[in-house]
Parts: sequence; structure tokens; C-alpha cells
Amino acid sequence: MDKSKKIIIAGAGIGGLAAAACLLQEGYHVRVYEQAPELGEIGAGIQCSANAVKVLHHLGLADRLAEVSVKPKSFEFRLYDTGEVLHKVPLAETHEKNHGAPYYHIHRSDIHKILADRVLELDPDSVVLNSTAIGFEEDNNSVSLKLSDGSKIIGDILVGADGIKSAIRDQIIGETPPDFTGQVAWRATVPVEKLPKEFMDKIVAIWCGPKKHAVVYYLRSGKVLNFVACVENATWKDESWTVKADWQELKDDFVGWNDEIQIIIDNIDKDQCYRWAMNNRKPIYNWRTDKAVVMGDAAHPTLPYMASGAVMAIEDAAVLMRSINASDDVAEALDMFQRNRVDRTARIVTESTEHGDLYHLSNRQEFEEGFGKKNIAKERGEWLYSYDPLAVPLI
Ligand SMILES: Cc1cc2nc3c(=O)[nH]c(=O)nc-3n(C[C@H](O)[C@H](O)[C@H](O)COP(=O)(O)OP(=O)(O)OC[C@H]3O[C@@H](n4cnc5c(N)ncnc54)[C@H](O)[C@@H]3O)c2cc1C
Repeated sequence: MDKSKKIIIAGAGIGGLAAAACLLQEGYHVRVYEQAPELGEIGAGIQCSANAVKVLHHLGLADRLAEVSVKPKSFEFRLYDTGEVLHKVPLAETHEKNHGAPYYHIHRSDIHKILADRVLELDPDSVVLNSTAIGFEEDNNSVSLKLSDGSKIIGDILVGADGIKSAIRDQIIGETPPDFTGQVAWRATVPVEKLPKEFMDKIVAIWCGPKKHAVVYYLRSGKVLNFVACVENATWKDESWTVKADWQELKDDFVGWNDEIQIIIDNIDKDQCYRWAMNNRKPIYNWRTDKAVVMGDAAHPTLPYMASGAVMAIEDAAVLMRSINASDDVAEALDMFQRNRVDRTARIVTESTEHGDLYHLSNRQEFEEGFGKKNIAKERGEWLYSYDPLAVPLI
């Protein structure tokens, strides 16, 4: 496509910034409109597999990523009380050798900053803050993003990367009410100096037990332990990531679990326990109009059980760039993007929900059978991590 085309992106999260960086690097004119007064991220860790890391490397970010990330040795699915290993997925060298890039654990604010720095290096004027998108208008010649202050930004393509409550998605397909899963997630971090020496190997430990599971891994070159725990609890309905809850309730949720879990919980700062309700949304199959399209969580929000929401947003960024490169017609480019991304991301949404069921079985025998039937190591290697968004043939 003609490089003078003006591309408007709503939302400067991980997805919007990855798309902006990919498109700016190709030479397009890009402007990102973000509602927040400053660039930043909340939350703690994310896992980033080779299929997304390849895109970050393409953006010239390999050294900066390696500086702040942890390369885990493996996933270990463990039984909640005895710690018996139920299933193992090798990562580290095996992942890199099989899939062509590392598997990383990274703090959300670190990856966000690395992407934001790259975007601003490519064009220092490309991000506009304090700009809340409320919808858009389009005609045969252009598309305009409507902001809450009444202004309109005119361009050739609009990309809605405005997250799970996307205003752009609402306009394209109408409001899609979320289904509450009946599950809540706890999130906390622990500085390693508060833990016993050599507390845990550099792995991802996924502790599975009746009606709950906990995911533990290191961040920030091993200086911080990240703890996320999902619990079936239908009474807490607040979806906000910034609401704190009582530490004692977290402690009570994990009575009877392994000593390693108790040590982590006991060392969490009691004022720093966050909890939010997890909603699920069914996959949608129409992401676009002729000139506007959604990506990332705006298009395919997912439960976090396959650690692939941000990974899918980063893959989207690369495929969107390639689709825009491939066609002179905006509607055809957006259609190419959609048809190459819908099935894969729908599979993530559906399988993430199923993984939640697998992690919450009742006893050792059920877990043995469950993990026996679902060979996560083999399946994810075959279809999830092996995908290369920069090289996969586009249909
Ligand atoms: C507990 C948990 C653990 C997770 N772990 C992982 C993991 O290990 N690996 C992984 O890949 N993913 C993980 N995810 C998922 C991942 O965080 C999301 O999929 C990812 O952040 C989506 O990126 P996004 O840019 O599409 O949306 P967001 O990150 O939500 O960004 C949207 C941006 O748009 C802005 N915005 C919103 N509305 C407007 C508006 N109207 N106008 C302008 N701007 C707007 C927001 O301020 C924000 O900056 C996890 C999620 C959770 C909840």
C-alpha cells in the first residue's frame, strides 16, 4: 500500500504499540490515540513465547528484551498438595531450538516501555495522550476517529487496539456482554530477598488443585517472583485490575496447599494483594468495516490460562503490517488481516477456557487422566509456538 496512507490507532497498550512500531518501521504515517494521561502499564508479569518474540526481534528489541527478561527452563504442572509433577513442557534451549526465538518472562511495564521507546524513536510525535476514542465515521474516502472532547481525527485506516472494553469493537459488532466465569484472579509479587535462598528453580510452576490453580514464575532478571492465582468464587464481581483485597482471604483460599505456596503467600506484602473477577467472551468472527478493524483484546479477549493474550496481540501487529503491505485496497487489506487471524485467535479463546477446567480437577487420579489425554507439550509445540507471524503464508 502507498506509504503516505494515514493509519490511526486507538489505544497504546502492548497491541497498539506493537502495531504502531511495525507500521512506522515500514514507513507508514501512524498516530496512536491513548486515553491515559501518560504511557504506562499496570499489573505484573507476562509470558512471551517465540511466536511473539520473533516480532519483537524484528523491531530491533532483542538486546533490550534479553536485559530485563527471564528465560524459564520449563513449565511444571504440579499437584497442589504434594507438588508431584503432573506434566512438563521444556522451554529454554528446547523452545528456542524448535521455534527460533526464546521464551521470556517479562514485567508488563518493561515490555510496554520497550515498545513505547521504539515507537517514539521511529516518530517522536506518533503518540497522542489524553485522547479517549468514542467511535468513528467512515465514507468512501476516509475514516475519522471521534474523541470524547468532540474532535475528529481523519485518516485512511483505523485500528481499534483499545482493549477488552473497546469502543471501536462496540461500533463494529454491537455490544457483546461478558459472561462472568465464576472465577477471580489474585495477583501479587514478592522480592526474592524475602524468600528462602534458592527457593524455586527458574521454571513456571502451575499448581493445580480442586477449584483453583496458582501460577508462579520469576521476573526482572530473577529479582521478583510473580504470583497469580485463580479461584472459583462467584461472590466477587469487580473486573478492575487495580482493586486490592484482603490478604487473609488469599491465605484462606489456599489452606492445605503445598508449603511452597504458603511461603509465597506469607511473604506477600499484605497491602499489595490485587483481585479481579474474570469474564469470558465468546470468539467473534467479524472484526472490520471497510476502513476500520479491531485487534488484540478488542478483537479476541481471552482468559489468561494459555498465557497468550498479549502474544496474540503482538502476532496481530505483524500480520496487520503484512496485510497492509500486501494490498493497495484498504478493505482488502483489512479483510486479509481478519481472515488470517480469526481462526487462530478463536482457538486460543476456546482452548484457554478448556484449560481452566483441566487445572481445577478434584484429585490426583483425575489430574493424571486429564494431563494424560491433553499433551500440552506436544500440542502447543505443534500449533501455538511454531507459528511465525512474519513468515506464515497469508491466504
Ligand atoms: C492475569 C493475567 C495474566 C496474563 N498473562 C499473560 C501472559 O502471560 N502472556 C500473554 O501473552 N498475555 C497475558 N495476559 C493477557 C494480556 O495482558 C492482554 O491480552 C494484552 O494486554 C492485550 O493487549 P491490548 O493492547 O490488546 O489491550 P490492553 O493491554 O488492554 O491495551 C488497551 C489500551 O487502550 C487504551 N484504551 C482503552 N480504551 C480506550 C479508548 N476508548 N480510547 C483510547 N484508548 C483506550 C488503554 O488505556 C490501553 O492503553 C494476561 C492477562 C491477565 C489478566
